[in-house]
Amino acid sequence: MKSPYLGAVPLHWCDECHVPVLGKRCSCGGKTRFVGVTPPGDLRPAFPSDIRLINHLFEESFGSLLIPNDHLVLLNKVPDDDRMEEIIVGGAIVGAIRYLPGESRWEVLPRPEATLLMTPKMRYVIVDDGAAAFIKDGSSVLAPGVVLVESHVEKGDEVFVLTEDGTCIGVGRAKMSAEEARGITRGQIVRLRKNAPQVCRPGSATWDDAVDANREYLLKMEGDSIAFIRDVREQEDLPVTVSYSGGKDSLVTLLLALKAIGPVPLLFADTGLEFPETLENISEVSDRYCVPIFRGDGEAGFWEVFSRHGPPAVNFRWCCKACKLTPVTRLIEEEFGECLSLIGQRKYESARRMKSRRVWRNPNVPNQLSAAPIQHWNALHVWLYLFQEKAPYNTLYEAGLDRIGCYMCPSSDIAHLRMIEARYPKLWERWQTAVSDYGGATGRPENWFESGAWRIKKGESDDEDSHY
Ligand SMILES: [Zn+2]
Repeated sequence: MKSPYLGAVPLHWCDECHVPVLGKRCSCGGKTRFVGVTPPGDLRPAFPSDIRLINHLFEESFGSLLIPNDHLVLLNKVPDDDRMEEIIVGGAIVGAIRYLPGESRWEVLPRPEATLLMTPKMRYVIVDDGAAAFIKDGSSVLAPGVVLVESHVEKGDEVFVLTEDGTCIGVGRAKMSAEEARGITRGQIVRLRKNAPQVCRPGSATWDDAVDANREYLLKMEGDSIAFIRDVREQEDLPVTVSYSGGKDSLVTLLLALKAIGPVPLLFADTGLEFPETLENISEVSDRYCVPIFRGDGEAGFWEVFSRHGPPAVNFRWCCKACKLTPVTRLIEEEFGECLSLIGQRKYESARRMKSRRVWRNPNVPNQLSAAPIQHWNALHVWLYLFQEKAPYNTLYEAGLDRIGCYMCPSSDIAHLRMIEARYPKLWERWQTAVSDYGGATGRPENWFESGAWRIKKGESDDEDSHY
């Protein structure tokens, strides 16, 4: 699958401080090195729950945890059928995890550099020195030269290829099980995956260290965004608001607005399909920064359209208009007449937003002028800034959820929806009942909900973007 190109990925690593840096120099004075990750490269920190998942998957597959204590880990979501994330440790991609919706499980795709962090205790193949020379040049692992196929190896497994002294020289997929490989003298045992060699230098650090290392870059991003907010406000004599969703991007936007122009009210489009943590976050942020909340009520609109059209789908997201745009238009009309709204839109989010202007009017919300102060920030800028400011971000991020919108958003990948189902069985059951009832009444197949088929509407291409 081709990745959209949304601009250079500015990820560098300081091997002195063991932290990611958003430019060529670290605050320690040292030079950083470039880390090549798959575009678009909207990297985020791995939180403890992400690390637990990764370690659990590595232990299950290879008998050993991947991530040592006190190492900083970044995750990079890359294009795949459902969800796949590269794992960056020590300034290198040490592997990836990928969700297989058909099998309802995660799969681990390690890189050879992972063995600088862990020692595989199972699912490895040992080759002799003669074969190792060819394998290093990219050949597959053939039966002659194989010393041992570890007993857990099954056909199709991801395996490490090791020399007799335990050095990893490749990773790939087993073409036969340990059982089948026994006594065999010819044929392919492992098909190697080609990965460019990388520099990986593990070492411990904290996110506070990462913030320190990036101070200069954060100050520059902050300065640029504050100047932008002041500029827009000078040109447009309108009351200013911040569109607040409970997500990290709108929180940074609020922090910047507070620094640029002082307290401004929050506009919150409450869809009635919010996570409890999101509602808590909105109250907490309002209290902490002494800013009032103006709430648009989208819930009634949602269920009214639902009763006529069924659930929203990836390619039929009528919900943004019904739950957000229409109620927000009404809210602005009542409270302000017209307003300027600062919105946490970023170009790294999607190809569409890359092309979007930094100041615009959504035709569906004619009384709102929208402006995007963090248009040029990537997710790592956002996270480091939130850590620097010790801002109260939504606790859902720490639970491994990276999308904070409506809990049943059809645009979420299945891996995400499975996490929601496990964490919020009651919310999920409510949605399942509503969708199944609609499916039953309109002659949809028996497993319309369970199969996820409700998420795609046949014969539709309409898609409303949610940033109003
Ligand atoms: Zn440094």
